[in-house]
Parts: sequence; structure tokens; C-alpha cells
Amino acid sequence: MLITPLLLEKEPLELDEKLPALDYTPDVRQVGVLAVNGRAELLAEHRGPREIVQDIRLRAKYSGDFEVLCARCVDPVPQHIEGEFDLLFRPTGIDAGQGERSISEAETEIGYYEKSGLVLEDVVREQVLLSLPGRTLCREDCKGLCPRCGQNLNQGSCDCEDRTVDPRWNALADLASRMKS
Ligand SMILES: [Zn+2]
Ligand SMILES: [Zn+2]
Repeated sequence: MLITPLLLEKEPLELDEKLPALDYTPDVRQVGVLAVNGRAELLAEHRGPREIVQDIRLRAKYSGDFEVLCARCVDPVPQHIEGEFDLLFRPTGIDAGQGERSISEAETEIGYYEKSGLVLEDVVREQVLLSLPGRTLCREDCKGLCPRCGQNLNQGSCDCEDRTVDPRWNALADLASRMKS
């Protein structure tokens, strides 16, 4: 959904969206729709007597179900994710050359929108990714995968587990198996 200043000129836009699965990162998958409720509005930012900058303020809540891969065993872990944001977007390029003067830490978080407009999905995707914990585990004591054979060690041990093999013997074993085949 593209939000443009023109669209908001007369009145704010109420958002009540059910977004189909977006592309996140390879380890994050959206399950079902993502509900987004909020409002987009235009804010006129007066800069000097003549210059008026058209900012888009986007406030919304989002909520949806996800599957995030366990950082150790890469099994999908169901996660319900919800949150809210209140962001201000300025036309891209408007702050160029002004350095950091116009952006203070105390201000609302500031982003930029392209000439064509602000893509709601892009904003929501970023917010969802920001709200995820840095690392997801299927359980605290997940045993992960065997680094040698890839066996999921939560489901059972593998043959390589107890054998601590000297790397030099690996090279020999490789050679032997290549000669056999
Ligand atoms: Zn795991
Ligand atoms: Zn193994």
C-alpha cells in the first residue's frame, strides 16, 4: 500500500489492513495475515517563512503470527508478534546538507519517504524485524545440530557424537572413502 502526501491532503487515512505474508529475512516467516491498525496523516513542517515541508506521520499497531528459525537447530519456532510505532517521514533529500541540526534525539523517530510515496509494507516489515529478539531458541537447552552430520541432537544422538576424531585422521578417512568409491 502506497501512502502519498496527495492521498492525505484532505484528511488523515485510517488504516485497517490485513497484510498478506511479506518477505522478511530467511529465518523469519509470517503465518497468515498481519493486522495493521492506525492512521497516516500529513504534518506541515514550517521551516522559515516560505518553506513548508510535508511530513507523513504514521502511527499504527500491528499483530501477527510468525515462525522464526531456532538459532541452534533451525527448527521453526512459533512466535506471536505485536507492537506499535509512531514514526515521522520526511521527503527524501529534504535534510541533505543540513547535517544533524534538524534531527535531535528527543524528536520522534524520523525516516524518509521517496517521491513516489511511503510503502506501508516496508515500514511494517522493518518494525516487525526490530521487535524480534536477537536470537530465538526452540528451548533454552536446545542441543542444536551435529556440526558433522547435521543430525538434530534434540531428536537423538548420532554416531559421530562420541568420537573425537583427530583432524588428520579425517583427511585419511576422506582419502580412504574416495578410493573406495
Ligand atoms: Zn532448537
Ligand atoms: Zn553427527
